[in-house]
Amino acid sequence: MADARQAPADAAPDAADRIEFPFEPPRPDGEVVALAPGVLWARMPMPMQLDHINVYLLRDDDGWFIVDTGLNLPRSRELWASIVEQHFDDLPLKGVICTHFHYDHAGLSAWLTEHFDVPLFMTHGEYFTMRTLAGPPPEPLPPSLLQFYVRAGMPRERVEEMFAKLRRDPFMPPHPRAFNRLREGQVLAIGGRDWRVVIGEGHSPEHACLYSESDRLLIAGDQLLPRITSNVLVSDIEPEANPLELWLDSLDRLASLAPDTLVLPSHERVFRGLLPRVAELHAHHAEQFDIVRAHLRQAGAATAFETKMKLFPRLLSAVEDMMALGETIAHLSWLRYSGQVRRVLDDDGLYRFSLAN
Ligand SMILES: [Zn+2]
Repeated sequence: MADARQAPADAAPDAADRIEFPFEPPRPDGEVVALAPGVLWARMPMPMQLDHINVYLLRDDDGWFIVDTGLNLPRSRELWASIVEQHFDDLPLKGVICTHFHYDHAGLSAWLTEHFDVPLFMTHGEYFTMRTLAGPPPEPLPPSLLQFYVRAGMPRERVEEMFAKLRRDPFMPPHPRAFNRLREGQVLAIGGRDWRVVIGEGHSPEHACLYSESDRLLIAGDQLLPRITSNVLVSDIEPEANPLELWLDSLDRLASLAPDTLVLPSHERVFRGLLPRVAELHAHHAEQFDIVRAHLRQAGAATAFETKMKLFPRLLSAVEDMMALGETIAHLSWLRYSGQVRRVLDDDGLYRFSLAN
């Protein structure tokens, strides 16, 4: 939904139609790139296929806020110390804002808030999800968790193996003991600029984006990435959830912001082109729905695990496998809640999905 607001002079005239990347990214070594007065972009390296996360530094009158932290790794801690030393103009860190609980975003929140003695800002949904999921998965696995994956068609040994790998996850961080709650619509006044909290759902329970309407800036977290798609999954915690509906609705809410907004995402490059990117993401999920429907038409009936092989045919690591299965169930659930797909629990204790007509 475009509106009649005037585009700032420096915005490209066709910014509403195309995705553009107006800035070269910073090296993940403590370098920063200025995006607007008092808004800096830095990168933390990650030793995984997605090899970095973007973090943003917001200058207030008497100090700085940072948005997202990077993984809980010695190298990220070194880089934060160096960024504070080199780019904060002798002003202190005032607070840590985390868009959501995932450990590339909040993994250093305990260290940063303790080391610099500053508060954490996070939504209620994200903070308590972080605390609930802290630490390794329980052993033995709870029956409800096993049942969720077995019903989805994943062999029990593979479930055990997947969670055994997750127990050895080296990045699981400690969490801060307290937080300041962010809420939908709340305004954070930082350095003469108002940042409005815009909540998104689907990728995580209560993901906070920050929007400056006057400067057309959106700190988007994982709610809007320029090239890769964010994981939207169903897990054993909320097996009957319909997160794709929440996700697609959240995208539409972001599409109502000014079309020439500069989007500051958590991965890849800062971009303009909010509307075309939202349209691409809708198209991506429409394609996924087509693949699922085609598979069910051909197979007659299939488990989520079998359907996953069609959506994500590559061989996947334990974490990727869980995300891929969860994302497949999210697509099946969306189709089911929209009346296009039926789900039946068969005599073998497996959910079998088929086309409704
Ligand atoms: Zn995330």
